[in-house]
Amino acid sequence: MALSKIRSVRALTARGGGADYHDQGSGHWIDDHIATPMARYPEYRQSRQSFGINVLGTLIVEIEAEDGTVGFAVTTGGAPAAYIVERHLSRFLIGRDPAEYEKIWDQMYFSTQYYGRKGLVINAISGVDLALWDLLGKLRGEPVHALLGGAVRDELQFYATGARPDAAKDLGFIGGKMPLHHGPAEGDEGLARNLSDIGEMRARTGDDFWLMLDCWMALDVNYATRLATRAWHDFGLKWIEEAISPDDYWGYAELKRNVPRGMLVTTGEHEATRWGFRMLLEMDCCDIIQPDVGWCGGITELLKISALADAAGKLVVPHGSSVYSYHFVCTRHNSPFAEFLMMHPDANEVVPMFRPQLLGEPVPERGRLSISALDKPGFGVELNPDVALERPFPSQG
Ligand SMILES: [Mg+2]
Repeated sequence: MALSKIRSVRALTARGGGADYHDQGSGHWIDDHIATPMARYPEYRQSRQSFGINVLGTLIVEIEAEDGTVGFAVTTGGAPAAYIVERHLSRFLIGRDPAEYEKIWDQMYFSTQYYGRKGLVINAISGVDLALWDLLGKLRGEPVHALLGGAVRDELQFYATGARPDAAKDLGFIGGKMPLHHGPAEGDEGLARNLSDIGEMRARTGDDFWLMLDCWMALDVNYATRLATRAWHDFGLKWIEEAISPDDYWGYAELKRNVPRGMLVTTGEHEATRWGFRMLLEMDCCDIIQPDVGWCGGITELLKISALADAAGKLVVPHGSSVYSYHFVCTRHNSPFAEFLMMHPDANEVVPMFRPQLLGEPVPERGRLSISALDKPGFGVELNPDVALERPFPSQG
């Protein structure tokens, strides 16, 4: 039975946190001397906003059906992604049945392939795809997880990402992932400071707690190997995340061979599509892939990425992604837990990950979330009407 057809597509932008979670005010842990590939330049070492990490802002995609039902999603991409959605991608949606997500995704991907494939364009495609799934769920009166085959467990378990794994332990999370602060340009002194940061946090959490390290692409293979080996033997670090450039598949394969047996190598938040993740899987680059649902191609593509990982015996633990992750993770056996980004400036309180943009965004309690909290049509959230939105490129016609 045909659903109400798509009448209009709107691409909006917003500033100030939300899906562009790096777009925070001063004094936030997420912009406090985090190691990055740009840290080789001293002038860009203290703040990621100094080199422009927050220039894009949030993209909001709204897809309206002829019966007035609106599906929406948020991701990173701002005005440049809004242009792509309004002027290029919307033609593949208007007048179409929202259930045709496979054909729509295929047309969005191959029509932009000559300038797309990864990054901003795939963020835009992801935003459209997630809005389409939200619309489909609302039209069918079902949560997205039900459309994906249903939950395979009754609750989600979370680890927390932020500057305070010790606070995460007190809040009931199963683990804490801390940011790395010093890159290779800060030499052996920086390496020693990194290790002492991990040691200090391990002393605060005690031994019986997952402790992980996020390196945001900042390192090289040799540095990452030295850091991982010491952190494993001295402090029981569980995994080293995104240690090197996402383009360096060969480096990841070497790092995975180098780290101590039992330690996990994770990456993928800046990887996209089934073809990108096929590289990570077939080259044996890591133990856990971490696609961001708003950046990897959306739910339609994540289904394919996840199936590849399942067949390869790898876990899929999406990066951040809030409800777009939760509705997926609960349906897959090879996604046994989820990430929660601690967006409180001090990383010591649970606040909604994409605040202030979503209403009804569920958050874990004592590190857990019942699947019943997701039992609302679509992704189960609404756009906060108090957030200022712009529509920079309204479609002609
Ligand atoms: Mg990360």
